[in-house]
Amino acid sequence: MIGTVRGVLAWRDSDEVCVEVGGLGYRVTVLPTTSVALGELGDEVYLHVHHHIREDAEVLYGFSTRSERVTFEVLIGTHGVGPALAMAILGVHPPAALARVLVDEDLASIRQRAEHIKADQSELNTEREKLAAAIPDSIIPLYQRLMKTKAGLAIAPMHEGKCGGCHMKLIASTVVAVQTGKELARCEDCGRILYAE
Ligand SMILES: [Zn+2]
Repeated sequence: MIGTVRGVLAWRDSDEVCVEVGGLGYRVTVLPTTSVALGELGDEVYLHVHHHIREDAEVLYGFSTRSERVTFEVLIGTHGVGPALAMAILGVHPPAALARVLVDEDLASIRQRAEHIKADQSELNTEREKLAAAIPDSIIPLYQRLMKTKAGLAIAPMHEGKCGGCHMKLIASTVVAVQTGKELARCEDCGRILYAE
């Protein structure tokens, strides 16, 4: 993996330069601004390089500064952004401005997520209110009292004729009431509301 190249500027185009190192010329894709900033042909030049390896190509992308190279790598790590687009973006925005844009986008997505959570929550609240409205008024104070006194376990399943809360055997009429589900049945011992399991 090539990280930097130091050598002699052999030739240049607006988007590609050739840097000769020990008899080998490395073709490096660069921004037009970088190409111009490198100086005269024959000058010693130094580039920060991203070594891009794909199945069908190996390309060196060269940058004047390390922060440009890092920004380029952040960009191509972003879904849907390839090296060509990353170069185009870098050509328009300097890294510092771009870093700000990326942070702003992070903030935007965090804010968006928060909005979603808030929406979910209000949906749940609506749902809860709807459910609460369906419960006869007389049960709610009882339920709330039980929630307090029974450590949050106001409701218990009936299991083999026993209360799932206190495990006491229930009297036959209570068992029938739970099984038929027609009226509110409570454990005669602990007072919990019972439901058929
Ligand atoms: Zn009980």
